[in-house]
Order: sequence, then C-alpha cells, then structure tokens
Amino acid sequence: MEKDDVGFVPTMGALHEGHLTLVRTAATECETVVVSIFVNPTQFNDPSDLDAYPRTLDADLGALKASGCNVVFLPSVEEMYGHGSARVMAGSVAARWEGEHRPGHFDGVATVVAKLFGAVGPCTAYFGLKDLQQCAVVRDMATSLLLPVGLRLVPTVREPSGLAMSSRNVRLSEDGRSKAAGMFRTLLSSVRKIQIGEPVGSVLVQGSESLRALGFEVEYLAMVDPVTMEPRETADPTSHVIVAAKIEGVRLIDNLPVSAS
Ligand code: AMP
Repeated sequence: MEKDDVGFVPTMGALHEGHLTLVRTAATECETVVVSIFVNPTQFNDPSDLDAYPRTLDADLGALKASGCNVVFLPSVEEMYGHGSARVMAGSVAARWEGEHRPGHFDGVATVVAKLFGAVGPCTAYFGLKDLQQCAVVRDMATSLLLPVGLRLVPTVREPSGLAMSSRNVRLSEDGRSKAAGMFRTLLSSVRKIQIGEPVGSVLVQGSESLRALGFEVEYLAMVDPVTMEPRETADPTSHVIVAAKIEGVRLIDNLPVSAS
C-alpha cells in the first residue's frame, strides 16, 4: 500500500493512549507524522477550564518520540493569533449539544484547525471519534473552505473500565473515576435497548436517570446522525448515542454507535 505523504495529529497535549493511538495510526499510513500541541484559548468558553487544563510537555515529547512522530509543532498563542484578525465560524452542525452548552467553542475549534491545516499544508488529518461533534464540525469546515486535507476518524480508546480516555480524567478522584465508568455502562445499555427495539425516547430518559443516580449532572443524552448532528427518533446503523455530563465538577463527553456490540 502506498503511504500518504504527511499525517497530521492536532492535540492540546497532556497526551494519553487515545492521542498516541492517533499518532501510531498515522505512522502506519503516512511517510511523515506531524503532531501539534497547542492549548487553544479561543475554544475555552470557561476561563477556569483553560487555567486548569493539564500541561505535561516533557512527558508528551517522550511519548511522541516513542510513537512514530517525526515533527512536533509547538506554536505560541502569538504565532497562532498575532497575524491578522479573520476567524472561522463553525457551520450548522455546531448548533446543538456541545455548541449549545459551550457557546463559541466550535468557532474556536474551526478557527484553530483551519489555521493549523494552513501551517502544516496538504495532509491527512487524524481525529478521535470520542469528540464526535468535533469530527462533524471539522469535516464541514474543511469541505466548506475547500481545504486540501483528508480526514481519518479513529475509534475511541478506553480504560479497562470502559471510561473514555481524556486529559480531563486526571482531575477525578479514584471514586470519581469509578463513577465516571458508569457513563460508558449507561451508553452501552442504551444502545443495547435501542438494538432490541425499545422506544428511543424512553431509553434516553432511563439513561439520564441512571446517570443522575450515580451523581452525574447531565447536560444531554441523545441519539443523533453523526454527520448532521441532528437528533434522531428512530435508529439506523449510523446513529450514535451521545452524552455530556459532569462528575466532581469535571465535564466528560462520550458516545457510542447504536451498532456497537
Ligand atoms: P485533545 O488534545 O483533547 O484536543 O484531543 C486531540 C485529539 O485526540 C482529538 O482528535 C481527540 O478526539 C482525540 N482523542 C482524545 N481522546 C481520545 C480517545 N480516548 N480515543 C481516541 N481519540 C481521542
């Protein structure tokens, strides 16, 4: 198989196995792997979340070297935002869910990803399906702006408990982590009920109740089309159940395709 020239993995650092899986996948498919680490201020709608965001550069560089990364791009805020004032506005796929609960977040994501694509040049870019709506926003942005970038979406990497790996997990206590694994169990039981034909609306109500019983503050639990991010009332094989909820003040998101077994 012929390899693509440049594989690009944008990250905000505090790297874990989820990020490193994107890097290893890119290394098997591309001649040169570029990884950016940039904690993008414009996608944080909550300044305390930006301040609390973990930064572990030395460990990140060691992990990248061992995972097949050839070039690390570490721009400063001045380099990313000091040249011109134009910004990208995310499209209609950003309207609901994360877009509703984190106003401005996806405009920040669309802007920084467009800038990073401009800096790196034509490439195949690797994104994690853990951030399902982000994948939809980036796809829509790259298509709308006719950018010479191919997208590769990589399945979510999980802890043995099922908890989706996230840089934010380090902010959970041991007890919080074990409760957080209940988010995956709720997703799994929701998709299983949908698979056997239980009505989607009541499955989602039951799922929200079980998350609340575990101590989660639920922002949304919904079934959507993964490209348009519009809610769906009846499942088809592409539908995904998506969730966002806080535990111990840490906001977690996750999703599963209804075809998951
Ligand atoms: P972040 O550093 O959180 O901006 O994430 C950088 C990239 O890693 C994004 O494309 C994420 O979707 C992806 N990512 C984060 N966590 C995971 C995970 N658990 N499994 C797969 N990809 C992930």
